[in-house]
Amino acid sequence: MTTPKTFHVKSFGCQMNVYDGERMGELLAAGGLAVADAADADLVVLNTCHIREKATEKVYSDIGRLRKGGREPMIAVAGCVAQAEGPEIARRAGVDIVVGPQAYHNLPTLVAKAAAGESALDTDMPAASKFGALPARRRVGASAFLTVQEGCDKFCTYCVVPYTRGAEISRPWSAVVDEAKALVDAGAKEITLLGQNVNAWEGVDEAGRTQGLDGLIRALDRLPGLARIRYTTSHPNDMTQGLIDAHREVESLMPFLHLPVQAGSDRVLKAMNRSHSRDSYLRILDRVRVSRPDIALSGDFIVGFPGESDAEFEETLALVDAVAYAQAYSFKYSPRPGTPAATMEGAVLPEVMDERLQRLQAALNRDQAAFNAGTIGRRCDVLLERPGKLPGQLIGKSPWLQSVHLVSDAAIGDLTSVDIVAAGPNSMTGAAVIRAAA
Ligand code: SAM
Ligand code: SF4
Repeated sequence: MTTPKTFHVKSFGCQMNVYDGERMGELLAAGGLAVADAADADLVVLNTCHIREKATEKVYSDIGRLRKGGREPMIAVAGCVAQAEGPEIARRAGVDIVVGPQAYHNLPTLVAKAAAGESALDTDMPAASKFGALPARRRVGASAFLTVQEGCDKFCTYCVVPYTRGAEISRPWSAVVDEAKALVDAGAKEITLLGQNVNAWEGVDEAGRTQGLDGLIRALDRLPGLARIRYTTSHPNDMTQGLIDAHREVESLMPFLHLPVQAGSDRVLKAMNRSHSRDSYLRILDRVRVSRPDIALSGDFIVGFPGESDAEFEETLALVDAVAYAQAYSFKYSPRPGTPAATMEGAVLPEVMDERLQRLQAALNRDQAAFNAGTIGRRCDVLLERPGKLPGQLIGKSPWLQSVHLVSDAAIGDLTSVDIVAAGPNSMTGAAVIRAAA
């Protein structure tokens, strides 16, 4: 196999994978490779997700598609499928490189090995962090991701993350602050701090004080040029009062909270090893709403966890009614090999899961439409991120993470004042506020 000159990175799954994909791209570009489309690239990196069976299957169908027409690009499988399946994926799909989420800083070495016809597998979880071995951030968009925390020690019984991403670790204070400064210098106006349990982040500041995520957010709020801060995903048990207060006190912290609950029944939550109850979760949201009344709430749900009865599922619907989420993600339970839930009794029939998911999604869509309708008539800042399809149209995000379409002569990267005038199922229409000349 020859040494590749061009590359393409395709990321599946969560925002942490999007971030890792960007960092892998920067690493390959720093080594002199040029970006290309997947159909032409000499090296294709599939940055995979293992969270549900469907996500895993996508990788195998993508590998087949890349080889259509007799093309033989060098294929690297990165991410959580690489970590979980290791050499098995090289054997099953004949890929050239397998690299786990904690080892991708070694990608250039693995590419050289694969080009020399050697085995190129690295799924180590080294003690030293990969971040120090990555090149500095290059140009980024108006809104950028920054991973501050990785891994998970919560061991929810359905979830592969603690096995594929390893133990919970926080990146050091100075590393995060330096990367945030680099992102602002590279053009970011908004930074979303990422972690599997981002609100479990902990570090020691320049003065030697231990800080939680709220302390980090307050420090980033002081960075000149950074207009907006977001964070995701949070765990209910790590939702400190300091972080809740930050939603009232820190102007650049956007009024949006993604706080997965998974189910509304205490028995199911216990079987999931969620370590919060329905009530403790609802009490957290009450405190958050006191701190920031206009906050947009988001969540994750799993339907059809083993043993979930009709009555228990109704408790999930009742919780949704009680919260009125601005948006949410919902999934059918997918057994993951090696997790405790995969061997639990009481599998829910596929048709029952389908019906529950449909009912849940109908309730979530209803609440999303109501939330969106409730923002019509509000004036807010929109961070313009990309052009729309129509002439002069731009698309950006409201403080509540809604996509807003508007016609404006402002530039991408601008924060512009907008009146929200209409709501569609997935996006809002805005009218640019024309400022009277002084
Ligand atoms: N750490 C976050 C948390 O605790 O909510 C998110 C982890 S995971 C990447 C994102 C979502 O995938 C979870 O919140 C859960 O709803 C869903 N998920 C995880 N494992 C699943 C499984 N085996 N079947 C279906 N959905 C799953
Ligand atoms: Fe998975 Fe639970 Fe950890 Fe979230 S908290 S990553 S769902 S084990």
